[in-house]
Amino acid sequence: MDNKIPVQIKPTIKTKYVYEKLRICNNCHRYTILREDNCTFCGKPGLLPLREKAAATVRRTMRNERLAAILITLISIFFGRSFQEMAIGLAGGVILTGCLWFVQHRLLPRAVSREIARMFLHDRQRIADGLIANLDRAVETGKEDKARSYEMLREIAALVHDDTIRSLQIILLQSFVLRKDMELELEPLLQSRFDPDLARYIGELAKIKRELIKDRTFRYILKYEHEIASLERGEDILAGVAGAAVRLKRYVLSYSDFISRYARLLPKERFLRLYRVIATNPNEPWTSLADEVYRIYNEKYQWDADFQQITPRSISL
Ligand SMILES: [Zn+2]
Repeated sequence: MDNKIPVQIKPTIKTKYVYEKLRICNNCHRYTILREDNCTFCGKPGLLPLREKAAATVRRTMRNERLAAILITLISIFFGRSFQEMAIGLAGGVILTGCLWFVQHRLLPRAVSREIARMFLHDRQRIADGLIANLDRAVETGKEDKARSYEMLREIAALVHDDTIRSLQIILLQSFVLRKDMELELEPLLQSRFDPDLARYIGELAKIKRELIKDRTFRYILKYEHEIASLERGEDILAGVAGAAVRLKRYVLSYSDFISRYARLLPKERFLRLYRVIATNPNEPWTSLADEVYRIYNEKYQWDADFQQITPRSISL
């Protein structure tokens, strides 16, 4: 762990929908989710966001429909046998084109959404090919620029939910010096299988960004508690997670058995927090946790000034 590198990671660009991160090349019509200037396939600029491309297609179709209406108008004028018929043809054509334009204008947003759905269905293989090429590029970039490689994987992972990609992200994250001010994430990286690097990453977050540790992570840790305990410094990871759980009374209640197993390993500041939660809520069903906390308190902290402000008698025994 000594060869960790300091890095700067760019923040993610937030979009309302994940698919809005996809862009399509105006030249070769391949897809990419990476924040690049040029297309991965043909190397040319001109990457358009999916919505912009869909809107352009819809506008072109609508323009053709209007041209068809104008053409019909011209034909009806041309075939008019009298001035009156020609005038009726012209008036009808103007009304038809006007109505068409009005309806098209009203339907534009819905038509764009429909076009996006059509592109997804029709181009699913191309989108998959684009994402695979993106993944290759991200892995290749990792040889020279690990931070950029991580950013690329994070961009791909927004659309592709896959444990292999999560593992690659975790391996890169584990090679970085992690700082509190970094935009780090945890829940999107949780996997369905046990990953020792993920467990170590959670252990690090427990020290620098414990607010990221929430229910899904606690459940992951509980599921693989035995495997984590057998890792080198595995107990430190588990104690760190228990320390993260004591920040909310709700977590202490939900994971009381787990916390009870590691309460003895908590640093004083975390134990004090746990002690306070238990002491000020004597009527909650803490099961054996309250007994364990009181035992540790008696052994280690009963003469500690920081604990004196909390009344020990309020602990439910
Ligand atoms: Zn291209």
